[in-house]
Amino acid sequence: MFVKEKLHSFLENIPKNVSLIAVSKTKPVADIQEAYEAGQRFFGENKVQEMVNKYEALPKDIQWHMIGHVQRNKIKYMAHFVALIHGVDSVKTLQEIDKQGKKHNRVIRCLLQAKIATEETKFGMDFENIRDIFHSEILDNLKNVQVVGLMGMASFSNDMLNVSREFASLKSLYDELKGEDLRLSVLSMGMSGDYKIAIENGSNMVRVGSAIFGERNYIA
Ligand SMILES: *Cc1c(COP(=O)(O)O)cnc(C)c1O
Repeated sequence: MFVKEKLHSFLENIPKNVSLIAVSKTKPVADIQEAYEAGQRFFGENKVQEMVNKYEALPKDIQWHMIGHVQRNKIKYMAHFVALIHGVDSVKTLQEIDKQGKKHNRVIRCLLQAKIATEETKFGMDFENIRDIFHSEILDNLKNVQVVGLMGMASFSNDMLNVSREFASLKSLYDELKGEDLRLSVLSMGMSGDYKIAIENGSNMVRVGSAIFGERNYIA
């Protein structure tokens, strides 16, 4: 395993203001432990059960990020420890996170996922929908949820100009909303294949798996 080396060289090559979420989905606890020993504290998973198992097995100062699409009936299993939920794409999901946050007396941090890819398969809300949420009283009434930023996934494509355009569009929405709500601080965009373009376009949180842990054995 060369997790430590890959991690360090990755971190040397991104700006200091960009946080790395090491995406450990499908990878064994031993790999995460190795990254942990190399100093990494933020990990991302896309399945709740897998994240819970790893949370229980690993040191408690790890911050666990839920980066996958969130099923409302699974929020209760992670509400007591999740550090940031990236893929929130409905008010109903926000309401359920609030409800579960209340039970554990926590304010759960979330990102709203915006649809920026032209592909049909990607989750996320339209920009107008996101603006409406910020301009309504919905968030004020959810005391156990704090929306701290936005997340987006670009198209899986070799057309890097298009990928760049997609990231730039989310950055402009982020800047617009940040102008109205200074609590926003996170713009989560970029994966192994496109994090450089995401950072060029203003990302300050990248979710990177295979570039650190190696290729996954199956698509997750
Ligand atoms: C798997 C995944 C990543 C990381 O993908 P890599 O290409 O391995 O870096 C990032 N974000 C989300 C939402 C993912 O599901």
